Parts: sequence; structure tokens; C-alpha cells
Amino acid sequence: MTTPVRQSGKLRDVLYDIRGPVSARAAALEAEGHRILKLNIGNPAPFGFDAPAEILQDVIAGLPTAQGYSDSRGIQPARRAVVHHYQLQGGFPAIDIDDVWLGNGVSELISLALQALLDNGDEVLIPIPDYPLWTAVTNLAGGVPVHYRCDESNGWNPDLEDLESKITDRTKVIVVINPNNPTGAVYARKTLTGIAELARKHGLVLMADEIYDKILYDDAAHVPMASVAPDVLTLTFNGLSKAYRVCGYRAGWLVVTGPKENARDYLEGITLLASMRLCPNVPAQNAIQVALGGYQSIKELILPGGRLLEQRDTAVGELRKIPGVSVVEPKGALYVFPRLDPDVYPIHDDQQLALDLLESEKILITQGTGFNWPDPDHLRIVTLPWARDLSEAIQRIGTFLSTYQQR
Ligand code: PLP
Repeated sequence: MTTPVRQSGKLRDVLYDIRGPVSARAAALEAEGHRILKLNIGNPAPFGFDAPAEILQDVIAGLPTAQGYSDSRGIQPARRAVVHHYQLQGGFPAIDIDDVWLGNGVSELISLALQALLDNGDEVLIPIPDYPLWTAVTNLAGGVPVHYRCDESNGWNPDLEDLESKITDRTKVIVVINPNNPTGAVYARKTLTGIAELARKHGLVLMADEIYDKILYDDAAHVPMASVAPDVLTLTFNGLSKAYRVCGYRAGWLVVTGPKENARDYLEGITLLASMRLCPNVPAQNAIQVALGGYQSIKELILPGGRLLEQRDTAVGELRKIPGVSVVEPKGALYVFPRLDPDVYPIHDDQQLALDLLESEKILITQGTGFNWPDPDHLRIVTLPWARDLSEAIQRIGTFLSTYQQR
């Protein structure tokens, strides 16, 4: 008799539904020859978003000299470029090259930062809805994710009272995702100041995931968390995946600000873990300097007449035509997070809804509970397809919903 090989118990609470069972079903349908419209992942390339040519040129030119491992924290010119990038932003605290770690995307750095900090049972305050990697990694690192609510009726801003009420003597970190995935909210300075105040008062570390900081619509302005909390240990995460459209390269960075001398032991822990993964992907590190220092083509996509702005408008406009569906207009990022009124759509299992939509329409979306939202009444749709395709897809979702009945 053979003993079954089982996954580790450490994975018990680790979920990542954006690429979960509904995606697996979509892959099976594709294998059968169906064409699936993938509105589930913020992956710009398949929708015809090219990276700036100069980034490709520098990566190609650097390939012959990118064969070896690099320094585990990343190559000097890229880390220097990250330093310059923040120094040119008024208000960001002073940093130096030793405050920068490069990684295989922000994802890897989130993992290093939490693994290096958390002891079993330590609590991490994470917004809901969340980008679920934060909750998953906290669980994997032995921590306890404690979710604070963002308030849909207040533009999906964090509810600071709820946040404060969840601080305990085991709390170590407040996570802020701004601009937010999945809601597209861009937080006001006042909100960020309030969060900084709580971190200061309770001696907490701030972790700010700002990967969408350049994808802003209308008059939205991004305020870096570190700029309002120069006296609080703050880890800022960012990278090239979204604004520079090279998520396949896996290039991200982590910048530490605040009282670093007080955190030397923790930061050495991050460096230890960084050295255990040897180094980030070296060819991709060559993209960082040219991306940050070069022409910021993202602006053409988000300003009036820009493709991303037009698609955001289309998504919001089409969703609002569907009876019983409402949506807070996103001010940043690449997603809409509409609400299905439970009185009109009595859904008790939103993963089943996503599966049924996939079978019927061959459209792949992510259910709201995949973002740790507690109620089965939201969906997340990416706004990357051309406006015409997005419009047609959302109309088809509306038609599907009009007759949908869940058993
Ligand atoms: N953080 C947020 C909020 C995201 O939405 C994503 C990807 O969608 C990531 C991090 C991961 O980014 P990366 O490609 O740099 O790993």
C-alpha cells in the first residue's frame, strides 16, 4: 500500500483564488478548444499593452552580461535608480542605497518582509477587500491576518475606527494597499495620516503596497505612505509589473524608511532571506534604471483620450446599466469591483457564480470572496480589454445575471 503524499499543514489557510479553482476550470475549457475572455488577472501584455521599447532594448543589451548571479539585494545601478526616483518625489523621506532591496516582483518581497518579521501568532492588519497575497503570505509565515474593513459607502476608504478596534498586543503590522486592488480606491492624505497616527501610537510597522501609484484617473493624486510617516518604520513596495507593463519580467523593489537603526535586526533578517533566494532575476533588474529614468509612457494611457481611462469609463458605464449592480468609480489601478444587490441577486456562493458565468459565457472573472470580502455580493473585473470588448463582455454578464438563479 502506498501512503498518500499530502501538502504541508502550513498551507491549510493559504488561499489564492485569483488563480484558484475557477481559473483551473478555465484552463480545462481552453484545453478543450474554447476561447476564454480572461478578466481575472491584471496582466497587461495579452491585451496589447506593450512595454516601452527602451526597456526591451536595455534588457536585450544587458543579456550577455546578465548570466551570473548578482548581489542578493540587487544590482547597484537599479538600486541607485530607485533611490533617485524617490528623492525626486517631494516629501518622500531621505533614503540611500542600503535601504533598497530588489525582488522577483513585489510578490517575492512581500513574502521576504513578512517571513522575516512574524513569529507564530503575530497579527497583521490587512484591508478587506484585499489583494489576497497579503493574507496568504501572513498565514504561511505563521502570522494571523486580521482584516480591517474598507467602506464602500465612503469610496472604499479604510474604516479607521474598525482598524483601531482590531489592534491588540499581538499586532505587528498595518498593511496599506494604495491605490487599491481590487477597489481602485486612492486614499486621501487625511486617511493615510490617520493610519500613520495609529501605527505611531501602537508601535506598529507600516507596509505600503504602492504598485499602482502611477495608474491614476481623473484628478487623483497618490500620496506615498512613507511621506506621511517619516518617523514610523515603513516598508514601501513597488515594481515594474503594472505601470511599465512587464509583469513577466518579475522586477520589484522594497524601500525602508523611518527609524531603521531601531530595526537593524529585522532588516538583517530580510537580507538573510534575500541571500537564500540567491538574487532576483538579473536580466529584469536591467529594466529598472531605464524604466524609472526614461519616458513615462503610462501617462498617455491614463490622461483624457488614454486607453486605460477610456476602459475604466466603459466598465463603470456598462456596469451601471445592469439592474441591481452598483460600482464605486475606481480612481486608480486596473480593476472594477461591482456590487450585486443581494435583494436582486440572492447569491450564496460567489465562486459558483463565477464558475457558472465561465461555463455559460466563457468569461473568467474573480469572485469578491477571493479578496477575503466576507459576503458573496461582489465581483472583480479587470479593465484591460479594449473598450469595445469590455463593453460586450459586461453586457453579456448583465444578460447572464438577468436569468441567473443559484440553487
Ligand atoms: N500587489 C498588488 C496590489 C497587486 O495587485 C499585484 C499584482 O497584481 C502585486 C502586488 C504583485 O506584483 P508583482 O508582479 O510585482 O509581483
